[in-house]
Amino acid sequence: MDDPLNFCPEEFAGVKEALENNDQAAAAAKIQQYLEKQDKIPLNIGITGESGAGKSTFINAFRGVDNRDEQAAPTGTVETTMQITKYPHPNYPNVFFWDLPGIGTTNFPADEYLKRVEFEKFDFFIIISDTRFREHDVKLAQEIQKMEKKFYFVRSKIDNDVRAEERSQRDFSLERSLAKIKEYCIDGLEKGGIKSSKVFLVSSFDLHIYDFSCLHKTLEEELPAHKRNVLLFSMPSINMEIINKKKEAFQHQIKWYSVGSAALAGVSIPGIPAVDLMIMVKAVKSYIAGFGLHESSLRRLSSTTGVPYDELCAVLQSPLAAKEMEKITTDLIQKLLITAASRATSRALEMSRFIPLFGIPVTMSLSFTTTCSALSLFLNMLADDAQRVFEKALGLNTSV
Ligand code: GDP
Repeated sequence: MDDPLNFCPEEFAGVKEALENNDQAAAAAKIQQYLEKQDKIPLNIGITGESGAGKSTFINAFRGVDNRDEQAAPTGTVETTMQITKYPHPNYPNVFFWDLPGIGTTNFPADEYLKRVEFEKFDFFIIISDTRFREHDVKLAQEIQKMEKKFYFVRSKIDNDVRAEERSQRDFSLERSLAKIKEYCIDGLEKGGIKSSKVFLVSSFDLHIYDFSCLHKTLEEELPAHKRNVLLFSMPSINMEIINKKKEAFQHQIKWYSVGSAALAGVSIPGIPAVDLMIMVKAVKSYIAGFGLHESSLRRLSSTTGVPYDELCAVLQSPLAAKEMEKITTDLIQKLLITAASRATSRALEMSRFIPLFGIPVTMSLSFTTTCSALSLFLNMLADDAQRVFEKALGLNTSV
């Protein structure tokens, strides 16, 4: 339930006060500040593990980047130095994946290692191994814990294990094999002194199978509230649950964009109340980035999945998808607004309950509901497209 009193109470109070004082410029400035602040929240993920454990491949898969892409972390290289490389998320420049050398490679004691990698900046660490976790992984985890940071164990290349077990066992059971691998890892960690640890079984070539989505759920639960959306939006859309969560998070933001649009409203389009097109462009771009529906993102998806780009585009219905970001202009939004305005969504009507809560003056209320209506419509269309693209990319039946 998106109650504004539970959602960013400080910003809400500031905007409400400005509106009650009839100071629309101040309300708009506060909203712009709030939205800019959201865009700048950093997320730094430290990925550590021995050379060959699958760190670079995991970093690329998480970012939706093909191993052959020029933005990719190089894979299959033998590392012998204390080299630290950071890779930004292609759609979220404040989200960084740090490729950290395995602690065994460096021969530093765990505390020294953490100092060298400047542990303070990391939101959490992922310790990757393609076999069992070793003594130095345990030491590192214990040291990370001492520094009051979080760590998660990822057992990589699960697809290889599953294939090998499938070949060698007559009565192969996927559940049993996965449980056995997990148990073996957890046992090893417990013997090393790490109690009740979670180990996530991941194949970077098949993020939609195995435990990658459990890893996301755990990270989401354990991250501070203001970082959860940053993680969510930068997650690859590997299942419907993630697509729906993204949609829901964007829906929560619509009221902010709509109050901002109404307060800033300058453009009056015949037959439509004045709205701020710039702020609407910003909202729409955030949906496109979150769902990975702009041209470069779809091209990346095409190269990671092998599904031709044209086939991915063929399932798209929104005129906003498959364009480069610079093509999402105020002119385009203005054109679409005319159609959108005639299709007031039930969501927009529901959002009108925020009018008294925010203290939105009557003169602004039509702009507010028009923006809500249009943004809800754009969001629904893009979320449906995201579902169709996801299904196409995985070879599932299109159902939207
Ligand atoms: P790094 O040295 O830890 O960065 O490891 P890389 O990401 O370079 O991976 C080492 C090798 O393992 C490469 O040949 C990868 O293709 C392969 N690899 C990495 N992750 C997976 C995976 O999830 N499944 C399979 N089958 N191979 C993987």
